[in-house]
Amino acid sequence: MDKQYLNRITYTKDLINKADYIVIGAGAGLSASAGIQYGGQRFTDNFAPFIEKYGLTDMYTSGFYSFPAEEERWAYWAKHISLNRYEVGPTKLYENLLQLVKKANYFVITTNVDSQFELADFPPENIFEVQGNYGNLQCAKGCHHSLYDNKLLVNEMIANRENCRIPSNLVPQCPECGGKMDPHLRINPYFVQNEAWNKSNDAYDCFIDESKGKNLLLLEFGVGFNTPGIIRYPFEQMTYQNEHTKLIRFNMEHPNGPKENREKTIAFTEDILSVLLELNK
Ligand SMILES: [Zn+2]
Repeated sequence: MDKQYLNRITYTKDLINKADYIVIGAGAGLSASAGIQYGGQRFTDNFAPFIEKYGLTDMYTSGFYSFPAEEERWAYWAKHISLNRYEVGPTKLYENLLQLVKKANYFVITTNVDSQFELADFPPENIFEVQGNYGNLQCAKGCHHSLYDNKLLVNEMIANRENCRIPSNLVPQCPECGGKMDPHLRINPYFVQNEAWNKSNDAYDCFIDESKGKNLLLLEFGVGFNTPGIIRYPFEQMTYQNEHTKLIRFNMEHPNGPKENREKTIAFTEDILSVLLELNK
């Protein structure tokens, strides 16, 4: 192992031990590193009939595909939700991340919607899932603020799927307005921010407020430029503004931040699990 890498490991361990507050910010790259990849063989193995019929190329862009009928849209989404939310289970990567911070005072903010933090046993009250969660449905127009667990429905859709369609009677309808429903994901302005969402948001803001002037350590994992305004830019801003804040960035593709933060940032472009295993030694 090269010396420069070991220095970063030692320094990071020291920062974690000394931190009064740790905020974990997680983007798509973290779940991809955990094996939850939206393209490649994982996609082609699970969506062959949809690829043939609609020319879909990966799960990310398929999420925005305009299916010709609700029966077809839900045939696709049932498998997408099931594969990424219900079939995965806890992963070694997220479990190692918990091990790294479990003795510290920490909070998680994530744009991931796959419940991986909860599955790895992170306490739900320490997690803010900004963009929603695959496991719930909402009214597509957000006419009311209730969310609906979709596990049983999704299983039923998959069991009854034929030629990329589900039976019409399984297409979900809003119990209030009778309109269409959507997975609870921030895909348009109708995203429902219910009481639980607001409570998580407040808890996160509170944690950040309390950390001001203290040793705040930011651990950022796999956050790219799809929605940089949620985690990446605020983390860079806090690093710049707070004298005692350091940023540890895990990012294979975009490790560099503003030059003003260079002295306060450590970047790892190595495989995240390998680094976590080393940090947990
Ligand atoms: Zn409605």
